[in-house]
Amino acid sequence: MRLEEVFAKDGATLPINTTFMVEDDPLAFPEPVRVTGEVRGNAGIVTLTLAADTTLHFVCDRCAEEVARPYPVTLQRTLAQTLENEDAEELVFVPDYELDVPEVVREELYLQMPSKLLCREDCQGLCAGCGANLNHGACTCAPEIDPRLAALLPLVDKHDSTP
Ligand SMILES: [Zn+2]
Ligand SMILES: [Zn+2]
Repeated sequence: MRLEEVFAKDGATLPINTTFMVEDDPLAFPEPVRVTGEVRGNAGIVTLTLAADTTLHFVCDRCAEEVARPYPVTLQRTLAQTLENEDAEELVFVPDYELDVPEVVREELYLQMPSKLLCREDCQGLCAGCGANLNHGACTCAPEIDPRLAALLPLVDKHDSTP
């Protein structure tokens, strides 16, 4: 989108209402990303505010189950024509008055992605013995017991049965 207006006029606002596909990552983002927001000029500072929403598709890091989860992202950035400000993290450089909204959103989708993707916080993962998904219930494998602990078990039993 073109930004001449918001840079030239205080109080000018440009609405953002667009939909795009993350074409290079159709496995994670097979569904469109919907974006709404605005670019606003105020006392020489141009601010981009937007909210994006899509569905993130992934395979659980622990149990390998396929998951599709709503993935909303919000962001606020200052648009700058020169990189004189040191706080470059919050800056989007727009030297030629052109803002590529999908590109900004796309970067944010990856930035805000959790490093560990789990189907749920307390995913039980897969049994190391038989590979069963333990979220669906216990498997029939014998529970693995540390030999040192096993040696103590009779004592524990005896102790427990003592009135
Ligand atoms: Zn899982
Ligand atoms: Zn098992």
